[in-house]
Amino acid sequence: MDRAHNFFAGPATLPVEVIEKSKEAAYNFNGMGMSIMEMSHRGKEFDTVIKEAQADCLKIMGLDDEYAVLFLGGGASTQFLTIPTNFLKTKAEYVVTGAWAKKALKEAEWSAKHANLQANAIASSADANFNFIPKDWKASDDADYLHLTSNNTIYGTELKETPDVKCPLVCDMSSNMFSRPYDFSKYSLIYAGAQKNIGPSGVTIVIIKKSWLEEKGNPDAPTMLNYNTHVSKDSLFNTPPTFPIYVVGQTFKWILEKGGLEAIKEMNDKKAKLLYGAIDGSNGYYKGSVANVEDRSSMNVTFNLPNADLEAKFVKEAAALKMYGLKGHRSVGGARASIYNACPYESVEALVKFMEEFAKNNK
Ligand code: PMP
Repeated sequence: MDRAHNFFAGPATLPVEVIEKSKEAAYNFNGMGMSIMEMSHRGKEFDTVIKEAQADCLKIMGLDDEYAVLFLGGGASTQFLTIPTNFLKTKAEYVVTGAWAKKALKEAEWSAKHANLQANAIASSADANFNFIPKDWKASDDADYLHLTSNNTIYGTELKETPDVKCPLVCDMSSNMFSRPYDFSKYSLIYAGAQKNIGPSGVTIVIIKKSWLEEKGNPDAPTMLNYNTHVSKDSLFNTPPTFPIYVVGQTFKWILEKGGLEAIKEMNDKKAKLLYGAIDGSNGYYKGSVANVEDRSSMNVTFNLPNADLEAKFVKEAAALKMYGLKGHRSVGGARASIYNACPYESVEALVKFMEEFAKNNK
């Protein structure tokens, strides 16, 4: 198949090898004459699928079974509430770097309000329309946890380093999960909707430090929002999203085959360099929307053209060349190219070539 140049922000492009594997498994899994979608989540076949995915996930992160890997439904958005439900005892702190971070804080505020607790933003870039990552903040040592968002999908900012804090660290990695190495052992909980970098929509991955859950988790949390439920049943308390888990497992194998996160980061840096280079070298025709160069995301590249009409024309002409998904998020406008792990370098080359031609033809 002739693949399009896919710049959608999520659901987003997947490795072609993973699509091929999934196609086969969707029809005839392991030669069994039935689809992976048609068999029990309690059978030995699916058990192998989920166990391998969990083991590969920890391998990619350089973690061991000190952490549990969960595959849940409900999207990353459900985690916004699940986290305070399990861990908010006195006060939680949030660095608000975008719309998703704001939504996470809102759920914690809801939990806090109903139990007379605190959920506080300790830093925010809201006044600058989230065009930078605030760095001059200090988390309270005694906070129940600090919540971060490592990549702000809508605004195109990314947190490149893990901050040193004394309280447990929680991070929404939905839009840059497994795009670069982090010191994952510094985190107590990481979560991500799969649909950007690691699979299709429908499954949310949660990596949780078991000792934190044992010591601090709320045993009275409602069943489906209780991490203990899912850790104790190894993500099989109820029917999990089996097919998305299969695809995520294949994506993990693809990451390992590529050489792991160092190799993936190298590929991503090369693409980002090319695209930001085209923006910076356009004599101001394309304007990056992130204030500080060091905060620029290597996943979601956001930029503006001279006016909204040209932006609409740009997106339309690009689509005619099979370059899809370049419209900025509806809340901010402009253009956005999401260049996740599976986006080939050639797609970014094609985009850059188109950008140069478009700028020349639309002065
Ligand atoms: N966090 C981030 C950083 C996101 O980009 C998104 C979705 N675009 C979400 C959370 C919400 O994810 P979901 O749709 O899986 O609830």
